[in-house]
Amino acid sequence: MADPKGFLTTPPESPARRPVDVRIMDWKEVYEPFPHSSLEKQAGRCMDCGIPFCHNGCPLGNLIPEWNDLVWRQNWQDASERLHATNNFPEVTGRLCPAPCEAACVLAVNPEQSGGAVTIKQVEHEIADRAWDDGWVTPQVPGRLTGKTVAVVGSGPAGLAAAQQLTRAGHTVAVYERADRVGGLLRYGIPEFKMEKWVLDRRLEQMTAEGTKFRPGVEVGVDVGARELKSRYDVVLLAIGSTVGRDLPIQGRHLDGIHQAMEYLPIANRVQQGDLAEPTITANGKHVVIIGGGDTGADCLGTAHRQGAASVVQLEILPEPPAQRSAMTPWPTWPLMLRISSAHEEGGERKFAVNTEEFLGDDSGHVRALRLVEVRMVDGRIEAVPGTQLEIPADLVLLAMGFTGPEKQLADQFELDLDTRGNIARDASYATNVPGVFVAGDAGRGQSLIVWAIAEGRAAASAIDRYLTGVERLPMPVAPTARPLT
Ligand SMILES: Cc1cc2nc3c(=O)[nH]c(=O)nc-3n(C[C@H](O)[C@H](O)[C@H](O)COP(=O)(O)OP(=O)(O)OC[C@H]3O[C@@H](n4cnc5c(N)ncnc54)[C@H](O)[C@@H]3O)c2cc1C
Ligand code: SF4
Repeated sequence: MADPKGFLTTPPESPARRPVDVRIMDWKEVYEPFPHSSLEKQAGRCMDCGIPFCHNGCPLGNLIPEWNDLVWRQNWQDASERLHATNNFPEVTGRLCPAPCEAACVLAVNPEQSGGAVTIKQVEHEIADRAWDDGWVTPQVPGRLTGKTVAVVGSGPAGLAAAQQLTRAGHTVAVYERADRVGGLLRYGIPEFKMEKWVLDRRLEQMTAEGTKFRPGVEVGVDVGARELKSRYDVVLLAIGSTVGRDLPIQGRHLDGIHQAMEYLPIANRVQQGDLAEPTITANGKHVVIIGGGDTGADCLGTAHRQGAASVVQLEILPEPPAQRSAMTPWPTWPLMLRISSAHEEGGERKFAVNTEEFLGDDSGHVRALRLVEVRMVDGRIEAVPGTQLEIPADLVLLAMGFTGPEKQLADQFELDLDTRGNIARDASYATNVPGVFVAGDAGRGQSLIVWAIAEGRAAASAIDRYLTGVERLPMPVAPTARPLT
């Protein structure tokens, strides 16, 4: 156990965010460095509960009390070993995970008395960064090759985690990615201010040194057909994500200046990667309206401020959640509560319980305003409140209302069954209806989180390894049917 009195004597502490007026002038990550000595104290708040509920919050099965104890004892290298035992990319989850583990931490049962959960995500972040800084993360080249080949289609966290597991198990793995760079949403969705891309590149270098082959700029189904891929490899793993953005087919949708979030964010990322001098869709000087109050919307918000937007309004159809955990979502479930991300702290207005009825255009066919109406819940249904229509100005509208599933063309080409929600159907072993074709990540689960994508990639790798060798050798952290604690 870490410090037996830790949580009684040490209040929770997280790293400070850089001042808003400084950080919106650049694209660097928003957090200040956190001293190792402070982090050791934070790790010491872990009580090593008999039943660590944090394990139920984290689909990876991260060994949280173990590495908390090791950090508290200043044994960072062993902590890194325990962390990497269950998570291929802790430097990513340490930065980007919403930390369902912390919502399930026993210290979160009664935060008024305990001060709140152990800052697990921060401990993970610091262990991972220190492991890289001190040279403990090295390529793990397999001792012998099996002669079996695997094509992974899609290079987001699910595809990368599966590729790393399978390469280390001795299989010959090639990752196909239609974008010009590898990383999936980690590369072109998530903005630099949440994770600078050198963090990803460093991990890809390790994977390349281990033997994983990367084939960026190749779209499976177009540049190489399903049949060809299946005949070239023993196994194909589809990790193509959930990329179809939910649309808003209302009057005026055809107007210029209305874009899906994932048309807008990749361009901003490309500017940071040095591909473009200026973004081809920019918020600079514009009145921006973001439709969708979730994380993708928050990423658009932070991006718009950095581009110099004149104003930004983020709309959410649901009512404003309570400031603290709602009684409807008791511990240890993921709490319904108002979340204030770093992007919200940087400005903009949030409007809750409003629906967009119409986009209004100017004479040149460009959007100029939105007509909104207030809404309320009646018998579980959202209904407009009569007489509450209002118009707000908009030169740029970003649709961030979630994703409806994977693109269907590839599933058609492979002749794959879909489930009732339009995702690629799989059995308990992540296998599709086509022998030798597996699916992992958002393509099978639907829109989710990085931590689930990594867990699915690891689990699918385990199932594929068993399919190829007949032996159970790799860990399988989650079943395809596993769901977050709700
Ligand atoms: C803007 C945004 C921000 C997010 N922020 C967070 C966050 O902060 N924290 C968090 O936990 N989650 C976040 N998420 C969710 C998270 O990014 C996803 O759940 C996760 O990336 C899913 O991983 P994946 O590997 O299944 O798919 P993806 O990351 O979507 O990767 C799929 C890849 O497959 C490629 N592909 C598709 N079809 C083909 C083809 N035919 N041939 C070759 N390649 C193909 C795509 O180009 C893509 O690169 C965010 C999502 C978005 C959209
Ligand atoms: S990956 Fe996410 S849920 Fe798991 S321990 Fe880290 S922060 Fe918590």
